[in-house]
Amino acid sequence: MSAIVDRSSAFVRQVFKDFYRENANLISPPPKPEAREFGYWSFERGEMIRHLSFRSSEEVRSEVARVAPLHAYRSAAYYQYPSAPMEEKGWTAADLIFDIDADHLDVPCVSQHVYRVCIVHGLLEAGAKTCPRCGSVGREVEWVCDTCLGAAKAEAVRLVDILVEELGVGEEEVEVGFSGNRGYHIVAYSPDHLSLDQMARKDLVGYLTCVGLVPGLLGLPWRREGRGRPRLDLLPPPMLQQPGWRGRIVRRIYSILQRPDVVHGLAKYGDLAEDVRESWSTEPEWGVAPLGFWTTLIEEAIRQEALRIDPVVTTDIHRLLRLSGTLNGKTGLLARRVPLEMLDDFDPLTECVVLPRGRRVRVRIAYSPAFRLGGEEFDEVVEPRSTELPVYAAVYLISRGLATLET
Ligand SMILES: [Zn+2]
Ligand SMILES: [Zn+2]
Repeated sequence: MSAIVDRSSAFVRQVFKDFYRENANLISPPPKPEAREFGYWSFERGEMIRHLSFRSSEEVRSEVARVAPLHAYRSAAYYQYPSAPMEEKGWTAADLIFDIDADHLDVPCVSQHVYRVCIVHGLLEAGAKTCPRCGSVGREVEWVCDTCLGAAKAEAVRLVDILVEELGVGEEEVEVGFSGNRGYHIVAYSPDHLSLDQMARKDLVGYLTCVGLVPGLLGLPWRREGRGRPRLDLLPPPMLQQPGWRGRIVRRIYSILQRPDVVHGLAKYGDLAEDVRESWSTEPEWGVAPLGFWTTLIEEAIRQEALRIDPVVTTDIHRLLRLSGTLNGKTGLLARRVPLEMLDDFDPLTECVVLPRGRRVRVRIAYSPAFRLGGEEFDEVVEPRSTELPVYAAVYLISRGLATLET
């Protein structure tokens, strides 16, 4: 069995090698490559090679093309001696980085995308770890669909807006990249943020994820410990255009008021939401509803406004990040930069398909959900079967652990 898997992996590696031979120019190292650590996951050795350094972007490109790795990475950090062991590198600064993964977005379909597959006998029953027919441990597959990818993109757009509108990052200093699998990486290269230490980055994460946010301090209607109820008519009125958190929460409340039925806890207020919506459209004020109504809304607004970023990535000042313009070994898709003005219309499942479309190979699919990729639709494969696929789709299924190369 493992010989077939090895052969499939060798096939993917050859496809990657051929790709890089023709397309090394797509590899897009970050600014100051000479101060970065690079690393890659090797096909043959099945391990991570770290602490590499190069003198120029050109050197990075030719090395990645020569090695044709499964995954390639670069540091967010800038070092004096990037190839030295970690404690001797001489950290000088780090890009401010964010990771948005479809997995962390509360999208309902995510739970349906994780299952185990026996590469010979197909999909295992939910909860089963081993294949009942051959006893082998099924490989865990993490699929991703259009809905997940759309949610990840929407979150990326939100984050970019906040970086630019609230945190003083210039639009030209923001880089958005599709990871090649389930999410987006956002890098801020603004000089003001490069030297932030771990604690400062932690504070930033708190701001973005609403940890420790006290609505009362923002002049919003909120319970006050031991000081009685706030006088709602004395609070600053809810203005939609206000900057920062306050404005964002007020705008979110306003949008929730358009669909109050979806918020658990508002039902007991009857038609009040409708009345508030009408009065807010002419003259917004807090006095038109009781405190409990507002706290329910504010809690929901904060829940919706909190960004779903991976806090560990942003606070890790030695983090390695996928190198732009390289192939993601879990999919064969290109991890690529997306210019801000193209983000709204960006479709990773067509624009990151870079492997050959014209050539077809025979694969044995153990199981596959229906999917769309590279402008083609592929049907669900419920029982294992052999079929021909264009190279890019074959690599996609092989890399996800759903198919093997047919011999
Ligand atoms: Zn089996
Ligand atoms: Zn999904």
